Amino acid sequence: MHHHDPEFHFCPVCGGKLESKLLRGREPKRLVCPQCEFVFYLDPKVVACAIVEMEGGLVLVRRSIEPQKGKWVMPGGYVDRGEEVPTAAIRETQEECGLSIKIVRLLGVYSYQGKLQVVVVYLAEPLDGTFQPGEETSEVRVFSPAEIPWEDLAFQSTIDALKDYCRMKED
Ligand SMILES: [Zn+2]
Repeated sequence: MHHHDPEFHFCPVCGGKLESKLLRGREPKRLVCPQCEFVFYLDPKVVACAIVEMEGGLVLVRRSIEPQKGKWVMPGGYVDRGEEVPTAAIRETQEECGLSIKIVRLLGVYSYQGKLQVVVVYLAEPLDGTFQPGEETSEVRVFSPAEIPWEDLAFQSTIDALKDYCRMKED
């Protein structure tokens, strides 16, 4: 599942010959320029998130890395090339908060002019596991809809998805 398009051979910055390199253990190999260290990321980036409903509320995680360090977000992260989007939401939720989940349905897709990310948000329910913050999260907790920390949410997509969620719960 982790492979790159074969048509890209040269660094678009300096013309150096790109190499396929493992930068971080858990991530796929990236095309990297050994001369100028440019990393060749391609196309829009798809992000898969899960709103996990439990104990009368939903699970949010607090980011321990930039961007938006210290802010709250639904568990989620980048979809790898060749990976199914719901599978990414399940994997990221496991990594970021220790929960196994089952996808219930799609809540919405959030994208913004000029932004690289396309954020796909699913509704999900927990299967098992206990809360355990992952590498990129400092805290995990359940918020009732009334407790959602609107002033401390990480991204526009977080705000918009949670607004849609609250609207859905009111109907
Ligand atoms: Zn280069």
